[in-house]
Amino acid sequence: MKRVINFNAGPAGIPVEVLEQARDEMLDWNNTGMSVMEVSHRSKEYEAMHDETQERFKALAGMGPEWKVLFLTGGASSQFFQVPMNFLFDGRKATYLVTGTWGKKALEEAKRFGPCDAISSKNPDGTFTRVLRQDEISVDPSSAYVHMTSNNTLFGSQWHYWPEVGSSPLVCDMSSDIFSRPFPVDKFSFIYAGAQKNLGPSGLTVVAARQDFLEKSQESAKLPTMLSYATHLENNSLYNTPPCFSIYMLSLTLKWLEKRGGLAAMAQVNEEKGKIVYGAIDASQGFYRCPVQKDSRSLMNVVFRLGSEELEELFVKEAKAAGIIGVKGHRSTGGIRFSMYNANLAASAHAAAAFMDDFRRRHG
Ligand SMILES: *Cc1c(COP(=O)(O)O)cnc(C)c1O
Repeated sequence: MKRVINFNAGPAGIPVEVLEQARDEMLDWNNTGMSVMEVSHRSKEYEAMHDETQERFKALAGMGPEWKVLFLTGGASSQFFQVPMNFLFDGRKATYLVTGTWGKKALEEAKRFGPCDAISSKNPDGTFTRVLRQDEISVDPSSAYVHMTSNNTLFGSQWHYWPEVGSSPLVCDMSSDIFSRPFPVDKFSFIYAGAQKNLGPSGLTVVAARQDFLEKSQESAKLPTMLSYATHLENNSLYNTPPCFSIYMLSLTLKWLEKRGGLAAMAQVNEEKGKIVYGAIDASQGFYRCPVQKDSRSLMNVVFRLGSEELEELFVKEAKAAGIIGVKGHRSTGGIRFSMYNANLAASAHAAAAFMDDFRRRHG
C-alpha cells in the first residue's frame, strides 16, 4: 500500500492514525459487536460518544459553558441560508465581509431574507487577492450580525488578524481553517464549518454558538423545524438521525489534535508548512507566482501560477506521477492549489517544495 500526498481541497486528507483506528474498530466499536454505523443513535454508547465529542470540541477551542456545539447536515452551504433565516428577520440588516467566493455565496443567500451591507475586497477584475484591512471595515451598529470567512479556500487568502466589528455579533465560516490555529473565542458569537476539510469526512457540519446569540433567533414556530437552531439545541442535535459515522470520525480527529498538542501546536506546524512552500515560490525567481498579497497568504490553501496553462497542466501531471495529488486549482480560478490542511504535516510541504524545485530545474 502506498498513500499519496493529498492536497485535495475537500474532502481532504485524514490523519492516517485516525483512519487506522476507524479500521480497527470497524467491525466491533466500543464492545458493541457492531460498527458505529450500525449502532442506534439513541443508544447509551452512541450518546456518550456524541456528548464527549461536543465537549472535546469546546475544550480544544477554549470555549466555556456558554458555548453550544451542534452537529448538523447540509454542508457549510446550508449555513449560508440557515444563519439569515434564523437571525435576519423583521427588517433587521446584516453586514457581510466578502473576501472570496464562499463569502459572496453566503451574502447572496442572506439577501433573500433581509437587507445586507457588503464590504468586499474584490479587485476590479472580479478576483480576490487579499482580505480586508481594518480601516476598510465600518459596520452599521444596527447589524444583527457580521459575517466573515476566515480562510478563502479558492483564492488562497486568509485573515491573519481578527477584525474589530463593533458591537454586532461576529459569525464566521471557518470551513477551511478551523482548528488550524487558536482563535479568540470571545470575539465570536457563532462559527460553523463543513467537516470535510479540517475535521473529518463530509456529511457533517459543525456549528458552535453562544447560547445568548442562539436565543436571539427567529421564533422557531415561524421556521421549518429542521432549519431552526432551537430544534437542534433543545434536542442536543438528536432531533433526527445525525451523521453518526462522521461525528465518530470527528471524535477521532479531535483526539488526534489533542495528542499533537492542540491548536497552538497545530499552528506551529502550519506556519512551518507555509514557510516551506511559499519559500519555494518566492525563491523561484518568478517561475512560480503567488497572486495573493503577502499579508493575506493562506496557510491552508497555497495558490500559485506558472508561466502558461500548458506548464500548469504538466505540473499537475508530473506531481501526480510523483505521488502528490489534488494540486489543480479550482475550476473558476485556474492555476495550482496545494490544500495543506492539518492532516498534512511538514513532511508533505517538504516533499511538495522538493518537487517544485525539481520541476523548475527541468522546465525553467
Ligand atoms: C468548502 C467550503 C464551503 C462549502 O462547504 P460544503 O460543506 O460543501 O457546503 C463553504 N465555505 C468555505 C470557506 C469552504 O471552504
